[in-house]
Amino acid sequence: MPISADSVVELLADLVSIDSVNPSLVAGSRGEENVARRIAAELDAIGCAIEVTYVAPDRPNIVGVLNGRAPGRTLMLCGHTDTVGVEGMADPFGAQIRDGKLYGRGAQDMKGGLAAMIGAARRIVEGGGLETGQLLIAAVADEEHTSLGADALVERWRADAAVVTEPTGLDVAVCHKGFQWVRVETRGTAAHGSRPNEGRDAILRMGRFLQRLEAHDRHVQRGRAHPLLGTASLHASLLEGGHELSSYPRRARLIFERRTLPGEPSDVALNEANEILAALRSDDSEFEAEATALFGRGGYEIDAMHPLPGMLVEAAARVGASPSRVGMTFWTDAAILGAAGIPSVLFGPGGAGLHSREEYVYVEDVCRCRDALVELTRAFTQS
Ligand SMILES: [Zn+2]
Repeated sequence: MPISADSVVELLADLVSIDSVNPSLVAGSRGEENVARRIAAELDAIGCAIEVTYVAPDRPNIVGVLNGRAPGRTLMLCGHTDTVGVEGMADPFGAQIRDGKLYGRGAQDMKGGLAAMIGAARRIVEGGGLETGQLLIAAVADEEHTSLGADALVERWRADAAVVTEPTGLDVAVCHKGFQWVRVETRGTAAHGSRPNEGRDAILRMGRFLQRLEAHDRHVQRGRAHPLLGTASLHASLLEGGHELSSYPRRARLIFERRTLPGEPSDVALNEANEILAALRSDDSEFEAEATALFGRGGYEIDAMHPLPGMLVEAAARVGASPSRVGMTFWTDAAILGAAGIPSVLFGPGGAGLHSREEYVYVEDVCRCRDALVELTRAFTQS
């Protein structure tokens, strides 16, 4: 049978061909509803009970439930239905297969993972269903923005463990970094550009902050390194200031991002910014600025003693994969599941180009991911 005739590949091609760009990232975009409908139809055809929950207008979460014949443990498979934008892409919804790769926006991040986990439910039903326990298939909205979907999911659902099928190249990711965004505003005194005695330059004041921020980043990157994630880091993201050429600027604004390691405090970036500002104030009593925390999400790491990563490595080995235990640099919904008491790992197909102009997923990886999830579900729900 050609690989493209596998039902999981047909499903993947359908999912990629449906626009689900996150409307909070790109104004006027379609959002998740159409792809969620396709997923709900698939889960219904498989024989799952389905719950649809709107986390915002036109933006549903879908949860499919497959119950075993006797009580047991619950495994959740979770993926996000939204994608980033498609600007500059030649054929974002083409879903063409060339040389074993399926191309299009979201192919790797993460419709490949969604197709694999839904395909796993199909295989389990076709193989006679679950002896014991429960499988939850959760397709959530808005991961690429503020994770409204995962936040709503953990309000309603519990599981003994979860696999988030973000792209890991069929490795088992046991941890990932978090992030924090902080805004810094420096103030000056607006004045005619010819009058240095009256004017105070907010942009040059920001320059002092930036210089110290860069030095602090070097310090952070020489600091504690996680064995799988390396060190924390920070960078300046957005900068604006001034209002005309011939005037001293009264205000400058910076937003910087700090990528955090699991376990770092939720206000670490704000505290670091405030320490820099305090030092600048003690150097210059006229220096005026303030820092504000905007948004952040913690990093995540599954308990080192939890059996899930080992079970998943074994399950993947039974279908011919040989996963390593790795950490991912990017943040994922696993942090929200983990914080809600659902131990989670990441495991999904390989590919390339997430968030860039040409994105693809390896079709064979999607099939192998599906097969590993079938093995894991049977082992986990029966243990
Ligand atoms: Zn993703």
